[in-house]
Formats: sequence, C-alpha cells, structure tokens
Amino acid sequence: MKNKMQEQRESLPIFPFKQDLIAAIREYQILVVVGDTGSGKTTQLPQYILEGIPNAIVAVTQPRRIAAISAAYRVAEETGTKIGDLVGYSIRFEKVASKNTKLQFLTDGTLLRTCTTDPLISQFNCIMLDESHERSLDTDVLFGLLKRACKQRPELKVIIMSATLDIEKFQDFFDAPVFSVPGRMFEVDVLWQKTIKFQTLKTTFVQRCVETVMHIHKTEEPGDVLVFLTGQQEIERCAKNILDLHKELNYNLVRHRDSVKDMVVYPIYSSLETLQQKAIFEKTPKGVRKIVLATNIAQTSVTVPGIRYVVDCGFVKQKMYDHKTHMDALLVVPISQAAATQRAGRAGRTENGKVYRLYCKEAFQEMSPTTVPEIQRSSLLGTILYLLKIGIKDVLNFDFIDAPDPELVQTGLKQLFYLGAVDKENRLTHLGKIMSDFPVSPFLSRCLISSSQDFQCSDEMCTIVALLSVEDFYIQPRSEKDQALAEEKRQEFYDSSGDHVTFLNIYNAWRDSGYSQDWCRDNFFHYRALNVAKNIRSQLLSAMKQHKLEIYSLTHKQKIPPSCRQPILKSLCSGFYMNTVKKQKGKTVFYPYIASLEGQSTLLFLSPQSSLTKIDQDRLDWVIFNDVQFVTRPNMRITSRIDFEMVKVLFGRVDIKHHKMEEEFQTIREVIDPMHNEEHGLRNEVHSNQVERPV
Ligand code: ADP
Ligand code: MG
Repeated sequence: MKNKMQEQRESLPIFPFKQDLIAAIREYQILVVVGDTGSGKTTQLPQYILEGIPNAIVAVTQPRRIAAISAAYRVAEETGTKIGDLVGYSIRFEKVASKNTKLQFLTDGTLLRTCTTDPLISQFNCIMLDESHERSLDTDVLFGLLKRACKQRPELKVIIMSATLDIEKFQDFFDAPVFSVPGRMFEVDVLWQKTIKFQTLKTTFVQRCVETVMHIHKTEEPGDVLVFLTGQQEIERCAKNILDLHKELNYNLVRHRDSVKDMVVYPIYSSLETLQQKAIFEKTPKGVRKIVLATNIAQTSVTVPGIRYVVDCGFVKQKMYDHKTHMDALLVVPISQAAATQRAGRAGRTENGKVYRLYCKEAFQEMSPTTVPEIQRSSLLGTILYLLKIGIKDVLNFDFIDAPDPELVQTGLKQLFYLGAVDKENRLTHLGKIMSDFPVSPFLSRCLISSSQDFQCSDEMCTIVALLSVEDFYIQPRSEKDQALAEEKRQEFYDSSGDHVTFLNIYNAWRDSGYSQDWCRDNFFHYRALNVAKNIRSQLLSAMKQHKLEIYSLTHKQKIPPSCRQPILKSLCSGFYMNTVKKQKGKTVFYPYIASLEGQSTLLFLSPQSSLTKIDQDRLDWVIFNDVQFVTRPNMRITSRIDFEMVKVLFGRVDIKHHKMEEEFQTIREVIDPMHNEEHGLRNEVHSNQVERPV
C-alpha cells in the first residue's frame, strides 16, 4: 500500500516525466530543466537520478543556506533515510554527510569554494545548479566553471534548473537542450492600489500588509495567505501587529465567520527554525486561516501549499554595490516585473487565487522588466580571489553568462591589492593564496592573518571573526520593560572602543559561563547564534594551524583590559582600513576616507545598534566599520574607534590616488594634507612581513 508521502510525490507535475527526464539526462551532458515552482524539481529530480543513473554522486546547489538544509531534510525523509546518510548537505562551516552520501545539497558558495582546490569538481559526477533563474553571483560563476569542467570530463552531467521560462540565455550559453515540465496554473486576479507609488509605500508597507491581511481575513473566502516582505524585522513587526489586531477581532463581523474562525501566523526568513515548523507544509485545519509571512525565499525556492491569496509589498532587500564606499550594502528596492509575476503566481497553484499588490499599475510599469543579475551589482572581491586561485588569470575575459561591469572587476582587483592578496600585475600573492583558503571574506581573512603575524592576538581575532560571520546574536525584546532590562544587562560587556571588543567581551563571558544556555537567556543573546560562532571559531583556529599561523592569546581575562585593545584594533585595521571614516565635528555624519580622497561627497551614519552611539559624540573622530546597511539612510554596522595612526601606515603602503578635494572636505583635508608631504617617508615604514609586495 502506498503511503501518504508516496502519493504526494506521485501527484507532483514532474512525476509523469520521470522516465523521459532520466533518458534525457543519459543522452545529454548538459540539460536545462524548466518547471514552475512547486513542480518537484528540487526534491524529486535528484531522486530520479539516483534511481535511474548508476553510480551517480549528485550535488545540488541552492543560493540560500536554509533552502539547502530544508531540501536535504525533506529528501532524506522521502527516502526514509537519516540526514547525513544517503542524503546530506554542506554549507559554509557545516557539513552533514558521510561516505554513504550519494546526494548532497550545497550552497552555490560552498561548491564554488570546492572548485578552488578541485576545479573539475571530481568528487561529483552529476551537478545540478538549482534556482538558476535567480542568477546569484556564485551560481553565475559556477556556470562558467562547469562549462569548462564538462569539456574536460565527458562523463560529468550538468543540469541547470530554472523556474521561469526565460531560458534562452541558458540554452545559448550552454548550447544545451531544454526539458520543460508543464505546470498547472490557475487564474490569479490582480488587485491594484489606485495611486500608491513606491516612494510613499517605502515607509508604510509593513502597516499596509497588516491592513491587507486583516481585510482578506475578514472578507475573503477560506484560503491561506502568503505575504511577501523584506526581512526578519519587518516580518516580526507585521506578525505582532496582525496577532494584536486578531485578538481584538469580533468574529461576528467577519463575512465568512462560519467557515473561517481563527488564524495562525508563520514567519519564514533566513533562520532555519522558521522552515522547520512542519505545520507550514501541512493542510490548514478547517476553519483556520494560515498566514505565512515570508521573504523572497517563498518566491521560488519554498512552496507552501494551499495559498489562495498573495500580498505583494513590492519590495525586496537586495545586495547592491555602493560605488562610493566600494562595498555591498543591503538596500530595500522595488522588485522587478518578473518577480512580481512570480509572486502573483504563488496564489494560483491549486485553485484560482488573488494577488493584492500594494502599489499601483503605473508603479508596476516603472519597474524594471527583470532583476539585474547579482554579478552586475556586487562587490567582486571574493569572486576574483577564487577565480585567481583556480588559475583564471584574466578575470575580465572569463566565460561569464553576463559579463560583470569592468569597473567592478577593476575595483575588486584594486581592493585585493590593498589587502596584499594580489600584486601590481594582478597576480595572486602568497598571502592571497592563504586568504583564499579561509571560508570568510578577504577582509576578514586579512585580519586573521595579521592578528597572528603582526599583532599576536589571533585567538581573540578568531572569536571576533566568528561572531562577525553569524547572524545577529542580540535578541531585540518586544516589550519596553525587557528592552530596558537587556540594555542594563549588556552594559557590563560594553567596551568604549566600540563593537568589536564588546563582541569579544560578550563571547568570553559566555565562555566563562560554561557556554550556558541560561546565561544567553538572562543576557538577551541568541544561544543558537553564539553556538554557531563557537563552532566557526574552532574551524578558524584549525584553518590557522593548517597554515602554520600561530595562535596567540592576549589575555585570559573575561573582560578585555584597555591595554589589550590596540593590537586587536590594529589587526582589524589591516582588513578594514578601506572602511575608515572620519566624523564631522559638531555633526553626526561620517565621511569615508578613501571616497573623500577621490573627491566624492558621501555621508555615512552610525547604526542605532552601534555601541558607539552610547558615548559622547564629540569624542568620536576616526572610526572603522564592518559593513553598511541602508534602511532610510546608509548606516555603518559594527563600528570601532581607531587612531588615525593605525591606518596611516596602511594607506601609505598602497597607492591611493590623491585627487583634488572639494571645499567641503576641509575637515578631512586638515588631516590628510600633512600625509601628502610625508608620503615618501610612509612608504619606508612598511614592514616587510605585512604584505608581499612586488619588487
Ligand atoms: P520545485 O523545486 O519545482 O519548486 P519542490 O521539489 O521544492 O518543487 O517541491 C515539490 C513539492 O514538495 C511542493 O508541493 C512542496 O510543497 C513540497 N515540499 C517541499 N519541501 C517540503 C517540506 N520540507 N515539507 C513538506 N513538503 C515539502
Ligand atoms: Mg526548487
């Protein structure tokens, strides 16, 4: 007798094509498979291959970590095996697989990193690039690398999986046939706002989502609701407001009160717990309406069954290269028309549905038709480092499906030069080779190396880098009372130099508590995030040892004494000196140093979460930051105070063009000008062990 899961599998649109798909994969080396979201590409096709292709060792890539983990769990369950046995996963810092594993879900970044030591990816003989339509940066690079690998490995099978029909690009690039799995789409009614444009919507969309959900709940027939929002914070806020309003709701006034009596709200964002609630995928009990609040992940990588209504806020949080700071920033931007169509489609999978677009028709017409591929809007620093490591010297002429902006390649190379990872001829240096072996950004790997070679604080730096590699570990309590309590508790860890040393104090206090879960709860930190950091820390320590980078510890004290700050900050500067900013006197704005030198007037602000907001603002002068997040203005996240002396020598080492400066940079000029005169002297200060320089 067939069980329920078997029935579910056989009811998927892809099932009737099982034999044809296997035959096509046998016949062609590269195959493009297109099918609507939910048709069974991710969970079924890899299983068909295991059944139909002898000795297949399969890798399936996903642009998102939680999609990789969640798919692996689902397929393990469907095959009746334990995770890590037949089916496993591998994401940065975490691998669950064994010698029995024949199917691995990986993030595209993890597979790309594998390529740096094994460019032909010889450990797999079948590679499936899933969610190809998303055109994530790492997937795009893998396209080119796999095309190369196919020429050298005739037995290798490559399958490009995509959710949209816009596949001519893939077809042309790979010169491969397309196998299309017909979907079943029902009609979706589109409801527009009359006048609302994106500008107004940007500050109000969370509240409008709340109102729309309540409107649907009160007036529409039974059926679940999927709301597209931009991120965790917006989702949490929306969930809270919906639940508050729901408590006050008088069901006597609800139009469908006999059939809809209650609601449940599920958030889905980048944390795994949100996807591991089984109930999300189960049929909603009669009389209950399920409200799913999701990020873009629900657009194509996760399918929630039973959705009849979609609320589309019109925005997405997207990585965008910032030409002024030369870094990626996260921005909330309007989605593309293609994305809007995908979102709407989620309402018509099982019956006719409706999409509530929170913007007007004219706004839709102003959207760009498709989303710009990530490779054309991201910092390419890490990508270039990997390509150089693989041996691709001429990055600009690499076989890209869409070429990156040459200027971004140039900037990436320049930044790698600033970090000492490449020489003036853009050749990878010894230092660059070591940097590329660390599974963190080149900025962070530079800090790690420097902390061992130059400043003898590598133990501390491994902790800081680990904490910078996990999601936010501060719990933001909902009630004001708890907020005040959290603030008070955290006071104890605060270091006046800023966030980096504060992070270290937090970690050390947690360590001394015996890595206690209760301690995390009492002090309002996410236990899971700190635990991940602990694991990352030990992996970083072993990576350091592998490269014979000594581990030094400055202190065993729980709280870092002021005398130990300098080496830590100096190590941080080796990686982040390009992110040096100077505060304008009397104001709360900061000027990026390099951008100012280049004559650009760009302003940055302290993030409200930064511990530097707690000190007398007049005492702030030079600061380095980790990254920029753009909410309503560009905020520097994770910041520390430094002395200009710490970065002066680093700036002196590289050839930063000293452009003419505008009048408004007077304050900065005062500091910079003396440097011009000392330039020659500064060069001589370079310590030979800091950066490998061309002779
Ligand atoms: P595609 O990759 O083509 O979008 P999937 O293989 O991801 O399709 O999904 C096929 C079906 O399996 C969908 O109906 C989806 O709801 C279901 N499914 C996927 N993951 C899970 C899960 N973790 N739990 C329950 N059902 C799931
Ligand atoms: Mg999928």
